[in-house]
Amino acid sequence: MPLLDRAEWYDLARTTEWTPSYVSQEELFPVGHSDGQGIPDDAWSKYDEPYKVSYREYVDTQRQKDAGAYSVKAALERLDLYKNADPGWITILKLHYAAVAVVEYNAALQESRYSRWSRFPGMRNMATLGTLDEIRHSQLQLYFAHEYAPKDRHFDWAHEAMFTENWGMVAARHAFDDMLMTRDALATAIMANFAFETGYTNLQFIGLSADAARAGDYTFAKLIQSIQSDEARHAQIGTPVLQAMIEAGQKDKAQNLIDIAFWRSWKLFTILTGLPMDYYMPLEHREGSFKEFMQEWIVDQFARSLQDLGLDKPWYWDIFLRDLDEHHHGQQLGLWSWRPTLWFNPAAGVGPDERDWLEEKYPGWNDTFGKCWDVIIDNLKNDRGEKTVPGTLPIICNMSNIPVVGTPFKHLVDFPLEHNGRLYHFGSEVDRWIFEQEPERYEGHLSIVDRFLAGKINPPDLGGVLQYMGLGVVSEGGDDAHGYAWMEKYKTTERKAG
Ligand code: MN
Ligand code: MN
Repeated sequence: MPLLDRAEWYDLARTTEWTPSYVSQEELFPVGHSDGQGIPDDAWSKYDEPYKVSYREYVDTQRQKDAGAYSVKAALERLDLYKNADPGWITILKLHYAAVAVVEYNAALQESRYSRWSRFPGMRNMATLGTLDEIRHSQLQLYFAHEYAPKDRHFDWAHEAMFTENWGMVAARHAFDDMLMTRDALATAIMANFAFETGYTNLQFIGLSADAARAGDYTFAKLIQSIQSDEARHAQIGTPVLQAMIEAGQKDKAQNLIDIAFWRSWKLFTILTGLPMDYYMPLEHREGSFKEFMQEWIVDQFARSLQDLGLDKPWYWDIFLRDLDEHHHGQQLGLWSWRPTLWFNPAAGVGPDERDWLEEKYPGWNDTFGKCWDVIIDNLKNDRGEKTVPGTLPIICNMSNIPVVGTPFKHLVDFPLEHNGRLYHFGSEVDRWIFEQEPERYEGHLSIVDRFLAGKINPPDLGGVLQYMGLGVVSEGGDDAHGYAWMEKYKTTERKAG
């Protein structure tokens, strides 16, 4: 049989639309799953996949990508990275695998829902391959993390994390369930593919890949490049959806979904990428600051893609820009302090040299966040280590489910809201605004602190909390990544001064 050029058959093969005769369109594509109200009937077939590939080409490329990642891993295993890497880098791996690997599997379910529910035939095609993407790289990440599990049980969390009630995982599930799992196909494509994937995954997968190579972890660098090449393709699913909605006069609806998802993603990445880049990464291997990466990938590139579509920056852009300078430094203080509640060992990242770097990248850091670290350092210097772990619970935001933090000596504000007789707390005006967009979606959720106060965590003490969060079973909670070795320089300084 003669082989035709792809161009000769592709358009025919991708036309998978048909007119249902046994059921109505409304039954085939119910609103809750499909949406599409107000989009004219002739718009659906116009979805033009931004990335065209046949199944045969797809499988061939994916096979090569897998071979590349697995062979680099096999070749470098002898180097025993676990033993030789800086502990801060190992912390980054633990954080990444736990927060990402099983979420990729959720993303496979997210993409597969488009294959069934989207009324755009082109989107169904792309999403079928997108489902396979997500399955491939969830398996890849579980497998790569597994190598470390016998050496360090924290790596069990690659598989375990999403099935626990650890506070970090409650926060991640709340956001991902909102964006990936519980909305119709069109809203999900805007939130998950456009806002989350074209906006934010670049940060983790391109920024962190460069850092990995500089830290000598070529296996991880290769792994996440492999993943990013999947993401970069299926992330484009959202753009034609946005175009169709805008053409149908639904710009406001699309903008609202972007504004919600952009902020929810931002809060996740302050911890997932912000802390690794500015605190966990060994100083000598850092390329840029988290803020610099955000400025390149989000403030410039994502804002341009919004503009290209005729959309606006989110209404809270000024609040977001201020947050870029400040928010993750507060989270770093919180996470390091509540380190027994983590499945990894956070690095403090505040030795004298690191502080100079922070002050240079974030002018004013020493006079605000630095002052809190001064107290911690003083306690450690004087053998009062127990005072560096808080005896109480933080206030948790009822939207982001991460601690409400502020900037010392500048602002720390709780944004409360009373709704149906319950008092909710939010870490920002924007988190509260998201709640108000659809209170019935969020009102029933209890944060970790709400659960504690409602008597759901027993015994109601630190031991009970840790057990509830899944710590102390397979692995213990976290402690300082470097065993407080960074304190030595402060001790020497004092001796010299004295
Ligand atoms: Mn993925
Ligand atoms: Mn994806």
